[in-house]
Amino acid sequence: MENCLFCKIIAGEIPSQKVYEDNRVYAFRDINPAAKYHVLVVPKEHIESVNDITAENADTISHIFLVIKKLAEAAGIAEHGYRVVNNCGEDGGQSVNHLHFHILGGEKLKTQL
Ligand code: 5GP
Ligand code: ZN
Repeated sequence: MENCLFCKIIAGEIPSQKVYEDNRVYAFRDINPAAKYHVLVVPKEHIESVNDITAENADTISHIFLVIKKLAEAAGIAEHGYRVVNNCGEDGGQSVNHLHFHILGGEKLKTQL
C-alpha cells in the first residue's frame, strides 16, 4: 500500500534490520527498542489492524504466531519468557497502521495491565 511505512520496509524501500522473512511474513528489529530483544512481526499483505482480520487472512495470522514462537526459540528467550504485544487503533496506541506484533524479551519486563 502506498505511503505505508511497513509496506515500504517489506519492499526494501526503507532499510531495516531483518531477522526473518518468508512468503507471508517479515520480521525486523524495532528502531526504538523497548527491551533488549524487540522485534516486529508483520504480514506482507497490508492488513491495517486487528480490526481487519478476516476468515480469509486468519491463516496468515496463525502463521505469524508460529513464526513468533520460532523466533523466540532461535533468540534463546523462549524458556525465560517474553511478551507479544499488539496495539490496535488510536486508543490502543497504534502508531503505524499496518498490523504488527511486538516481541519483547531478553530481560525481565515491567509488569503491565
Ligand atoms: P505501534 O506503536 O504502532 O504499536 O508500534 C510501532 C513501532 O514501530 C514502534 O515501536 C516504533 O519504534 C517502530 N518503528 C517506527 N518507525 C520505524 C522504522 O522506520 N523502522 C523500524 N525498524 N521500526 C519503526
Ligand atoms: Zn502496509
